[in-house]
Amino acid sequence: MSQFTKILFFLFCVVCNQVAAQNGGFDVLNYHLKIEPDIQAKSVKGEVDILFSVDDATQQIALDCGSLSVEVVEGNSVVAFQQKDHQLIIQLKDKLPKENSIHITYQGNPTRGIHFMPEKNQVYTVFSTSEWMVCRNLITDKASIAMDVIVDENLQAVAHAVACGDLVEQKKFDNGKVCFSWVQNNSVPAYTFGFAIGEFNHSTIKHKETVLNCYSAAHTKAQLDTIFQYTADMIEFFESKTGVAYQNKSYNQILIGNHYQEMAGFSVLKETYGAMILKDSTETNLVSHEMAHQWWGNNITCERWGEFWLNEAFATFMSAAYNEHRFGKEKYLKDINAYREVYEKVKNEGNDKALVFKNWNNPSSSDRSIVYFKGAYVLHLMREELGDVAFWKGVKHYSKKYFGNSVNAALFQQAMEEATDTDLQPFFDKWVY
Ligand SMILES: [Zn+2]
Repeated sequence: MSQFTKILFFLFCVVCNQVAAQNGGFDVLNYHLKIEPDIQAKSVKGEVDILFSVDDATQQIALDCGSLSVEVVEGNSVVAFQQKDHQLIIQLKDKLPKENSIHITYQGNPTRGIHFMPEKNQVYTVFSTSEWMVCRNLITDKASIAMDVIVDENLQAVAHAVACGDLVEQKKFDNGKVCFSWVQNNSVPAYTFGFAIGEFNHSTIKHKETVLNCYSAAHTKAQLDTIFQYTADMIEFFESKTGVAYQNKSYNQILIGNHYQEMAGFSVLKETYGAMILKDSTETNLVSHEMAHQWWGNNITCERWGEFWLNEAFATFMSAAYNEHRFGKEKYLKDINAYREVYEKVKNEGNDKALVFKNWNNPSSSDRSIVYFKGAYVLHLMREELGDVAFWKGVKHYSKKYFGNSVNAALFQQAMEEATDTDLQPFFDKWVY
């Protein structure tokens, strides 16, 4: 090992130790999931290999497992395991190497975080990843993931599994089942893992090096082209505002079910939203909102749920900012006014709160309005206070500085102040803290 390599290796170990220490003694580096949902039985069976780094002092790790039944936990590091309060507690051996791998098999009939629609032969996941996959919910413990989604042989030939990351392989087994292998190389929080399975119409275009895929069972390929016609322009807009290129090789959007959820390189949009866009092509707020999360949320992530506004206020504000870019200032101001009205209603009902929450347990609908709409309105007020040039310079500085990291309001304030040479303490005291 050369001196330079030794220094690099030393720095790498220091970084690993720091990350593990911040995350409670261990840090997940990578998941390799194989999952086989049974849509008709509303069940899943899965196996996951988890690569993690560990502090010298750590003797036990806890993963999240919802109501899944864990059958096997094996690996050189494992002494014993038990399930308790929706967690999988694993006792580890002494004197482990820095990096270790464990193999877990599980099955279950989850009722949260995954929506089975047997009548349509569809299933998709939303948000609560540990309900269908043993993982670590901790938002600061970001990891990469390879996901093999195995599709039932009863589905038709057009069946497809869309998941987070990029599709790298599609393989048919002798038993007729098909395995779709998706890989997410950038480390992202576990809530951005997910997949959808069904028999979809599919539209695909290439924008520079990025493949843009859209899927839906309810719309034709031509309709999908119309519904998602602004996707490439949105990517370019967010790249220009952040100074950070879109990270995946593909961006995959699906109209399915009854939810909106951003995942890594992948967005789920409510199926009926497609019809709304077909009626009014300027109605693209949720397409751009979910895409904005590819920067603010998935990669610039609130460090705890009490700072959730840094994910949601940004995505909500940015959908108005995209509308300004695409359709003009009037459309932007119309959106901002709608956000302000939601906020004022909450305020008039006596439910105004700071954007930073002490905790985010059982948030009410007015708490959500604060985080999404007051938050977006406050970003607009900051833009008014700083002026366009300084505001966007600050947003770019903040986004570049913290891309791939976790953030809080103080770091956001500091980044905006650094870029604009402005004291924002009075503004943050009034509107944020
Ligand atoms: Zn959102």
